[in-house]
Amino acid sequence: MKEKVLPVILILIILGAIGFIVKRAVPQKPTYTMVLVDVQAKKIFKKPVKVGTTINYPVESPYSKSKTAYPVYKCMKCGEIFAFVPYVPKGPEDPNAMNPELMMPKCPKCGAIEVVVPEIPEGKEYIDVQQPEIPIVKPSVK
Ligand SMILES: [Zn+2]
Repeated sequence: MKEKVLPVILILIILGAIGFIVKRAVPQKPTYTMVLVDVQAKKIFKKPVKVGTTINYPVESPYSKSKTAYPVYKCMKCGEIFAFVPYVPKGPEDPNAMNPELMMPKCPKCGAIEVVVPEIPEGKEYIDVQQPEIPIVKPSVK
């Protein structure tokens, strides 16, 4: 009798663990708003994104109608607007996911790490970027 009970308990524990993992992997999907920059049309705009979705940049922009949109940052020191492509970890064990050099946006013009996401004023769809060029910062693994 004892020999039969133990496997049942183990199976229950395993099923419970799987249920827990599945529940965590499929959460409620609220959306949040991302601020992106279309480097071709030179417009900063908002895009609703479902929480937990992995986005591969660049994404399609409604302005240039092509894949030219990236997350956008503005340097607090020199005012440079730049696109930043975040590093996508290869899995939960990827040590690069903890590497601030890869995950933190840094100004390509002056090297400052004091950067902010530009704000789009209430009631506006987009803001135009007054810069001859919008640099794309893409950290890479060395
Ligand atoms: Zn700067």
